[in-house]
Amino acid sequence: DEYEIAYNARETSNEYWKEILDKAVLAIYDEAKGAIEELEEGIVKRDVIRIITPGTANLDEVLNSGENNFLACICIDDKKYSVSFCDASTGELITTEGDFDIVENQLANVLACFKPAEILINDGAFKHRKMFEDIRSRFDFYDSYLPNDYYDFEDAKESVYSKFKTLASNDILFKRDMCIRSLGALLNYLKETQKTDLSHIREIRYYDVCDFMEIDIASRRNLELTETMRDKAKKGSLFGILDKTKTSMGARRLKGWIDRPLIDARAINARLEAVNEFTLKSELRDNLSDALKQIFDVERIIGKAVYGNCNAKEFLALKESLKILPEIKQLISSCESSLMKEAYANFDELTDVYTLLQNSINEQDTPNTIREGNIIKDGFDKELDNLRSIHKNGTGVMAQIEASEKEKTGIKNLKISYNKVFGYYIEVSKLQSDKVPDYYIRKQTLANCERYITQELKDLENTVLGAKERINDLEYEDFMYIRGEINKNSSRILDMARIISSIDVLCALGLVAVTNGYIRPVVDDSDVIDIKDGRHPIVETVLYDSLFVPNDTYLDTNENMFSIITGPNMAGKSTYMRQTALIVLMAQIGSFVPAKSAKIGIVDRIFTRIGASDDLASGQSTFMVEMNEVAHILKNATSKSLLILDEIGRGTSTFDGLSIAWAVVEYVCKNIGAKSQFATHYHELTVLEDKIGGVKNYSIAVKKRGEDITFLRKIVRGGTDDSFGIEVARLAGVPDEVLKRAHEVLFAVESGNANSSGEEIGQKIEINKANSDRNNEILNDIMSIDITTLTPLEAMNELFKLQKKAGEIIED
Ligand code: ATP
Repeated sequence: DEYEIAYNARETSNEYWKEILDKAVLAIYDEAKGAIEELEEGIVKRDVIRIITPGTANLDEVLNSGENNFLACICIDDKKYSVSFCDASTGELITTEGDFDIVENQLANVLACFKPAEILINDGAFKHRKMFEDIRSRFDFYDSYLPNDYYDFEDAKESVYSKFKTLASNDILFKRDMCIRSLGALLNYLKETQKTDLSHIREIRYYDVCDFMEIDIASRRNLELTETMRDKAKKGSLFGILDKTKTSMGARRLKGWIDRPLIDARAINARLEAVNEFTLKSELRDNLSDALKQIFDVERIIGKAVYGNCNAKEFLALKESLKILPEIKQLISSCESSLMKEAYANFDELTDVYTLLQNSINEQDTPNTIREGNIIKDGFDKELDNLRSIHKNGTGVMAQIEASEKEKTGIKNLKISYNKVFGYYIEVSKLQSDKVPDYYIRKQTLANCERYITQELKDLENTVLGAKERINDLEYEDFMYIRGEINKNSSRILDMARIISSIDVLCALGLVAVTNGYIRPVVDDSDVIDIKDGRHPIVETVLYDSLFVPNDTYLDTNENMFSIITGPNMAGKSTYMRQTALIVLMAQIGSFVPAKSAKIGIVDRIFTRIGASDDLASGQSTFMVEMNEVAHILKNATSKSLLILDEIGRGTSTFDGLSIAWAVVEYVCKNIGAKSQFATHYHELTVLEDKIGGVKNYSIAVKKRGEDITFLRKIVRGGTDDSFGIEVARLAGVPDEVLKRAHEVLFAVESGNANSSGEEIGQKIEINKANSDRNNEILNDIMSIDITTLTPLEAMNELFKLQKKAGEIIED
């Protein structure tokens, strides 16, 4: 083959991608070096055969099996925006568009939902540089600018129409010119860099943002849907808890479901029905799990086949995967849920493809390379079999020819020999040379003998000597033929891969539900969220020295619209609110949920406003980030949304913060009507229950005994007016001296007028300090009295002294 290594040489300052590119180059380089070494002579033709970029890489070394690797192409003009995504390793192609006025919010959310590794942008996108920088602070991507002509509508249309069929007037993309522009630019970029026809990209799916729950970047991160906030690990995220899939395709699918929860009750209930079936049928679940374990990453094998960089071992993996399909079909044949029945009806066992691979690809010592032979089984290709037998029996065949020539000519001492100059020849003694037939061609006369060749001998010589070389070539040709057949069937295979991934996800969700004690939620279009004994799906799995305390949630769009949750630090407010969001989200992806019962009225968006400690990287102050998030929520939430607000206004002065929080509660209740949970340490806000319809106070119960507090973790009706902040500081190990002083300051502040200046409070603290010293003196005096030895008169005197001292303190 012709190998050349190249990659987009633009300087990247991104260390992560630098490392990935280096790895990719090394992987290709090793392969190329091996191939070049094998070419014994001749000049290697040099050509760029592929340009590897972060969004187009399909090398095992850089791809994560449980994740898609998307390339995004964005087109923005002054009216609309569109973005198309392609995972070249699996062949998925998705596009969407929206109005310009919502580009900043919507596009950022869509990008967060697909997390592309590389983004191509047009001129129009430059104006939104800040948005891209904001996104970059949440996840890493590589970006390239594509010149305007890539996005030219006519050219783009030509590219799209030539790859896919001309769009009919009822096609969802028919009038979506912006989609065509980003799709066309993306396809042209792929064509230029990948230099193959990418036949596995066979359909365009339109992603309608209205079909899915919208979750902004910050909320995805806050809820730790697919990775943890701290170290971006899957373990500890919702995905980590739910992913009991057995195939990489299933894992990617599940991640897609979590990234894009549904809002259509019918579709959600169809998934729930199937999950329910798997919770009930444990034997089916176990058998399916065992079968699915044997399935390799078929999507990526097909991707590689199309790219032309797959080897025979990968086809063996494909064969092993296909081998198990009839068993899976048999297993699901008794399923009753509609999704599984649909899977059964569309199930293609791909027997023909399996047979082809079974008959052709050799299973023993199959090499990684496709040029060295030992790929094709005996019996697949007659010519190959023939060549192999010739190669093996080369000398035997010559002996046969010798015998038959002796017989034909009657020359008893005729013999076949070999030398480097003539190759194989027939030697006849001079005495017998008159018996030589016409078709013998004389080549050499020696003293005693004549040497001849025949056409048959020469042909055989070519065959025997060239056999090995020819065997390798033929095996390569056969492999190319098989690859061509696989490519021709790629649509069928990929359809099956999709069915398998659905079965895998639904079965896995069934397994998780049983293992973790989840129940089936009732999902409908109502406005009520009613969860009984709900649990946080992640926190409940990480508590090792205590049990998770379940809690109820009731939210609607009337009397119970807005819960104000107060309670001590560390009581479990954040956990409780996230648990609400996660249970709703889980229900909307079609998963069972951690609760005793749950009724979930579908929500269109989930917004969270939770601490912004890690956002310094984005170059904004913590308070600014907080206010950006609040602004975003207030602008975009609807009466169908769920708002989780974990503190608002803490990053500024107490009164500014309280005022902002107060106004936000009023605004949400009066202007938006979204179901909300709001945890706050501004206990003043609890008065809103009596002022605004829909507000309800809740708190998390604690038990206090002396200086010890016990967290009961139970949510109860009514507000609280103590944060127990100093007690929590004690638990955290803050030094006693600081705690003691904090109590003094707290006492002074609480006993002061709320409007006191800092100086007045300072004076009060000093007076309180002196008083507290004198209080201690009185206490010491009392304790030092020996009551048993006092006469009544002495007792009276002591009491008189104590009263005098106390009087002095009060006077001061
Ligand atoms: P702060 O006001 O300081 O932010 P918080 O009230 O939001 O605190 P969380 O962070 O939610 O408190 O909870 C603190 C810890 O309490 C959690 O990390 C978890 O270990 C534990 N916890 C929370 N809820 C529960 C529960 N329902 N059952 C058992 N443990 C819980």
